[in-house]
Amino acid sequence: MSTLRLLLGDQLNIRHSWFSATERSRSDVLYVLMELRSETDYAWHHAQKVLGIFAAMRGFAQALQQAGYRVRYFKIGDADNQQDFLQNLRQLVASEQITQLERQQADEFRVEAMLQAAQDELGIAVNVVDCEHFLVDRAAISQQFAHKIPRMEFFYRALRKQYRILLDEHGQPLGGQWNFDQDNRKRWSGQPPAPAWLAHPKDLSELWQEIEAAGIKTIGEPQAANFGWPISRSEAKATLAVFTAQALPHFGAYQDAMSTASPTLFHAGISFALNLKLLHPLEVIHASLDEFAAGRVSLSTVEGFVRQILGWREFVRGVYWARMPGYAQLNELQHQRDLPRWYWDGQTRMNCLKHAIDQSLALGYAHHIQRLMVTGNFALLAGIDPDQVDAWYLGIYVDAFEWVEMPNTRGMSQYADGGLLGSKPYAGSASYISKMSDYCKGCHYQAKLRHGDGACPFNSLYWHFHQRHAPRLQNNPRLGMTYQTWRKMPADEQQATLLQAEQYLQQIDQL
Ligand code: FAD
Ligand code: SF4
Repeated sequence: MSTLRLLLGDQLNIRHSWFSATERSRSDVLYVLMELRSETDYAWHHAQKVLGIFAAMRGFAQALQQAGYRVRYFKIGDADNQQDFLQNLRQLVASEQITQLERQQADEFRVEAMLQAAQDELGIAVNVVDCEHFLVDRAAISQQFAHKIPRMEFFYRALRKQYRILLDEHGQPLGGQWNFDQDNRKRWSGQPPAPAWLAHPKDLSELWQEIEAAGIKTIGEPQAANFGWPISRSEAKATLAVFTAQALPHFGAYQDAMSTASPTLFHAGISFALNLKLLHPLEVIHASLDEFAAGRVSLSTVEGFVRQILGWREFVRGVYWARMPGYAQLNELQHQRDLPRWYWDGQTRMNCLKHAIDQSLALGYAHHIQRLMVTGNFALLAGIDPDQVDAWYLGIYVDAFEWVEMPNTRGMSQYADGGLLGSKPYAGSASYISKMSDYCKGCHYQAKLRHGDGACPFNSLYWHFHQRHAPRLQNNPRLGMTYQTWRKMPADEQQATLLQAEQYLQQIDQL
């Protein structure tokens, strides 16, 4: 009797109980990892995403082998790699006399469905276990999210209590409040200096040649000779250490800021490592709490950071698993327009979009506010089809896995879920972008103009969006001020603004 344990590319969790000391001595277990066309081709991925995942998988497999585990690894170009889970598994079941398949729950609905179908076909015993990464497991998600999606704030507070994070001795939040978001809204003007971009350059040129030889279609720059993303547990831990020492103290204050001078500002750059499970969310949270305990980080900053991981990351996963597969079809605002072609090449005169897109193509990364208030905001205001917006986000970011990408894109940024994730659409005009960034300086468009020569498209589109969705949105209490401002605007000003928006929408590919 022999057991095959399947490891997916985003299941590189060496702290999983599969790798406990007692398991190591088992000679009847074969660990299997596969680089597959079914995974490289379901979306148009960024070159660094494919490169980084394959490099991390190869490193993980090698580390397992060195530790004495039996491993079978399918490289993308191997002659006997049939590029499909079922076909490769079938081959191994026969050649290795496998009688049992064990696997961890997949995080993506698509993959889980594919694996379930494959295991039914194989006709051998199957054991599916937890991936032991998240702080809320799938059974708890079913309980907490099945009937009604909780508000993120209350979900987060319950987890703070459950994991006893930032609480006083009476179980109340430290500092007397749960949320310090209002302290975290500064613009950045060059000081304090932002830390350098990811610090682990390595040469992955040989692997890139294999990917190219296989004919995999990617977007963006591979930067194979100088690859920066962490691909091993030690690199991931080092990235976390650099973040906590150099950037975390300023994370809170500049969380919403954007700048042409730094792609990350004071963000962590750890989402790729977290999503591959090279890092565990609790160890990231505890690393930040240690800095707070040592007095190097303020309460408002550490709370803001913990909220992202303990709150948002777990919450979006809950929404995804509670609402899939229907979630992928939601389009509450009935947006149908095609994604402008310049999302794929950055060829637009709108400086904020150009900068965010160019950076994304170069690095496979943009930080949260660039994703939400620049690229996402424009797509929302212009009424772009959420399927196309999803496909773009799923492809362009190295950290994009559907369980986290889709609720953020379709829900938070496009309001296509009608408000399950956010209580109002994240729509902003140029005044927001100009307040939080240096993008508007030197832009072809004028941030202050609503219509007329050189008027910033965000302004007229902002009002066009609210006007066309008034029947659905005007009674939202959080939008009362917005609609009041619109109604107070003189009729000719309203008309000129809407006309301007219509003109821009007609020539959207030329903006
Ligand atoms: P930091 O800002 O330093 O935050 C630390 C960590 O908190 C992140 O690494 C991430 O794990 C977690 N986090 C923060 N915000 C969120 C959030 N809203 N949802 C889930 N986790 C969060 N994140 C992904 O991991 N994959 C995606 O595909 C993805 N797509 C997004 C699409 C859109 C439209 C938006 C608005 C956000 C998306 N996010 C996604 C969330 C967030 O933007 C990224 O996690 C973050 O930018 C990663 O960079 P960082 O590690 O420097 O994050
Ligand atoms: Fe973006 Fe408008 Fe500012 Fe130009 S003026 S950078 S388009 S917000």
